[in-house]
Amino acid sequence: MKILVINAGSSSIKYQMLDMTDEAVLASGLVERIGEPTGKLVYKAFPDSDQESKTVLEQPIPDHETGMKLVIELLTDADKGVIKDISEITAVGHRIVHGGDKFHAPSLVDDVVEQAIEDTAPMAPLHNMAHLAGIRTAKALFPGVPQVVVFDTAFHQTMPPEAYMYALPYEMYEKQRVRRYGFHGTSHKYVSGEAARLMGKAPEECNVITLHLGNGCSMSAVKGGECVDTSMGLTPLAGLIMGTRCGDVDPAVYAFLERSQGLTLSEIDSIMNKRSGLLGICGMNDMRDIHAAIEKGDEKAALALNMVTYRNRQYIGSYMASLGGKVDAIVFTAGIGENDDIVRAKTVEGLEAMGIKLDPAKNAGRATEPKAVHAADSRVQIWVIPTNEELEIARQTRDLVAGA
Ligand code: AMP
Repeated sequence: MKILVINAGSSSIKYQMLDMTDEAVLASGLVERIGEPTGKLVYKAFPDSDQESKTVLEQPIPDHETGMKLVIELLTDADKGVIKDISEITAVGHRIVHGGDKFHAPSLVDDVVEQAIEDTAPMAPLHNMAHLAGIRTAKALFPGVPQVVVFDTAFHQTMPPEAYMYALPYEMYEKQRVRRYGFHGTSHKYVSGEAARLMGKAPEECNVITLHLGNGCSMSAVKGGECVDTSMGLTPLAGLIMGTRCGDVDPAVYAFLERSQGLTLSEIDSIMNKRSGLLGICGMNDMRDIHAAIEKGDEKAALALNMVTYRNRQYIGSYMASLGGKVDAIVFTAGIGENDDIVRAKTVEGLEAMGIKLDPAKNAGRATEPKAVHAADSRVQIWVIPTNEELEIARQTRDLVAGA
């Protein structure tokens, strides 16, 4: 069974083709700068194997359909291809950022599902409309092939109302569906499931706190395999401090800046999403640059690192409480979580009294494979588990199609 996973952005398509008999990646790549004067396509056949081959094309790619057609040509190419014909593709799995509260699980695409994704678009305008372009392109180019949508929000739909409700007038929830949704759900589901497997338990048997720390950052409390709380909210702005997003701030900052600076709400929204977080504090949003600056004595960079790791630590404490103190493992994943031993160490610093203790030698360095980094006498296990959202989407797509 071969599954094509597509993550369509407004000017890009990330794709991966997997053979689900052994979950091997047959091909992967990225089409970017769609609609710009020069587009770019990267195609890797059999990545990370002895047979790996890479193709890069630079040419105008006016729309998603042109981009996808180029990908199909390469996938089926006599030399570089990994399949003979697109009829070998069993299903296409699409990543969708926002499913609102309509989607608790992956779904087969039909007119009703497409309409629901469009209806949810005001909460993630750039993302959802781009995903729809991806779905419509795939429907046209792979006629008769089941199209499955997998939502970043779906894993968080098990949160109880006390975790997802905001204390705003109730009709804002009833009429506008203003509530916490949470994001990165595919990643939180994947790494919490992997943590259970690595600890030799079923997901139902363990409680896990997952930290997805990349350019966007979020944390989830997962109880017996189900999400009971997560740090992002109605949008991906809430919670942890991120590369360019502020995370939690006093909501009255909006009104204050409007009154005192005459800024419009959309200007403030843009500042909070694009010019805040690490970038806002120290002018850099890549953790590697921040560590280099700290080495040279940059005090703002040091402050940014302290703020990020303090916020992470506070959320761990909060989720320990959400899980009644019974936590089997803390899991770090994504660009920072997998690669940055300093952020991991500072995040759990001083939590020994809560049974959380790192082994500095095990923690040292990056992780390309899952690794346990807790001390022998740590009550809570600490893991670094590389995330794999494409594989999780392919698995959910396979399961839905096989059961359909
Ligand atoms: P992601 O969104 O998961 O791709 O993560 C991207 C972020 O990971 C970058 O902005 C960096 O801050 C961080 N990152 C990537 N590689 C490293 C590394 N070797 N050390 C520290 N941070 C890293």
